[in-house]
Amino acid sequence: MYKIMTPGPTNVRENVRLARSMATTNPDVDSAFCEFYKETCDLLAGLLHTKNRMYILGGEGILGLEAACASLTERGDRVLVIDNGVFGRGFADFVTMYGGETVSFVSDYHRPVDIAALEEFLKKDSAFKYATVVHCDTPSGVLNPIKEICRLLASYGIITVVDSVAGMFGEYVNIDESQIDILCGGSQKALSAPPGLTLLWVSDKAMAAMESRKTPIASYYANILAFKTYYEDKWFPYTMPISDIYGLRAAVDNVLADKDILKRHAAIAAATRKAVVAGGLSLFLEDGFAGTVTVVAVPEGLTDKQILNTMKEQYNVMISGSFDSMAGKVVRIGHMGENANAADMAITLRALTQALQDLGFPVQCSMDEAFQQALAEGTISKSI
Ligand SMILES: *Cc1c(COP(=O)(O)O)cnc(C)c1O
Repeated sequence: MYKIMTPGPTNVRENVRLARSMATTNPDVDSAFCEFYKETCDLLAGLLHTKNRMYILGGEGILGLEAACASLTERGDRVLVIDNGVFGRGFADFVTMYGGETVSFVSDYHRPVDIAALEEFLKKDSAFKYATVVHCDTPSGVLNPIKEICRLLASYGIITVVDSVAGMFGEYVNIDESQIDILCGGSQKALSAPPGLTLLWVSDKAMAAMESRKTPIASYYANILAFKTYYEDKWFPYTMPISDIYGLRAAVDNVLADKDILKRHAAIAAATRKAVVAGGLSLFLEDGFAGTVTVVAVPEGLTDKQILNTMKEQYNVMISGSFDSMAGKVVRIGHMGENANAADMAITLRALTQALQDLGFPVQCSMDEAFQQALAEGTISKSI
C-alpha cells in the first residue's frame, strides 16, 4: 500500500469506512432515512455557518458545479467567470453548455483575485445574472478571498456560485457572512469521506432565480430545484446512495469533534511551505497559499514524472502532478482532512527529500526535519 498524499481523494478513517457497511433501509420509502438525511444536511449547514438550504446529491463533486450552472443558466444569460486557475476557467464550459454567455475576469494564476481590480472591472460592467469563483483552485493551490469577492458581487446584485470543494473544512467558510448563494462541496477532500457525493448549500435568492426562469432547467440529474420540497414531500428525485451518506455522516461527526481542524491545516501548510523552501525548492504561488495543498515548482532539469515515480516506487508515497495548463510545471502535496497530520507529512517530506537526492537535485536540508522544526516553532506565516 502506498501512502496517498494527493490533494484528494484523501484517506478515509475507519469509522467512516465502517459506517458505509451498515445494514440499510429503503431510502425511498422509509421516512427514517429522510430524517437522517435532513439531520446530516442541518449539521453541514451549521458547520459552514448558514441558514441556507443544504442538499446532498449522489454524484462526485463536479456534479455540484454543473448543477449550479444548469439550474441557474438560461439561454443568453450573461455570467461572470472569475478565472485565476484551472477550475476557475472550467466553469465557463458548464455555463456555455447550458446556453449562457460568459465574460471572463482573468487574473494571474500565481496569486489570489485582487479585489480592487475586480471592483474596477465591475464598475464598467456588472450586468451579470451570476458569477462563479473557486475558493481553493487545487491545480495551483491558490486560495481566493471568497468573502470579499462574494460580498462585492452581491453589492451589485450578482448571484454568487463558489466551488469550495477543496477549501471547505480546511479553510474557514462562513456562507451567510460571505453572502454566498450557492456553495459547492464534495465528500472526498477535507471532509475525508470517499468520493461520490456532492454537497450544495443554496440561498433563497438562488432558489428564487431558478423558480423564476422562463424556460425549464435543461437537466434532470443536475436540477437543484428538484430537491426543494424533498422534506415536505418525503420524496427524493432519485434513490439516495444511502451507504455513501452513512459514511458521510460519520465524516461530518469527525469534523464536528475536531475542534482544531482549521488551526491544524494552517500549521501543517505553513510548516510544509517553510520546509520545501528550506530544501531549495520554489513554491508555485507568490501569495494566497491554501491550508489544504502545497504546490511546488518542478526544479529545472527534472520532470514531474521523475519526482512522482521515484517517490512512489522507491519510497511508497504518492503525491500528484497537476493538469491542464498546470501540467508538468508542479508537483502537489495534499494535506487536507485526514492527510493533515504531522506524522504523514513528515514521511512525505522525507520521501521527497530522498527522491530529489536520488535524482541528483542538491537538496539543502532534510525537509522532514525542517518541517518538524517549523511545526515546533509554531509560526503560522501566510507570507511564504
Ligand atoms: C477535487 C475538486 C473538484 C471535484 O473534482 P474532481 O473530479 O474530484 O477533481 C472540484 N473543484 C475543485 C477545486 C477540486 O479540487
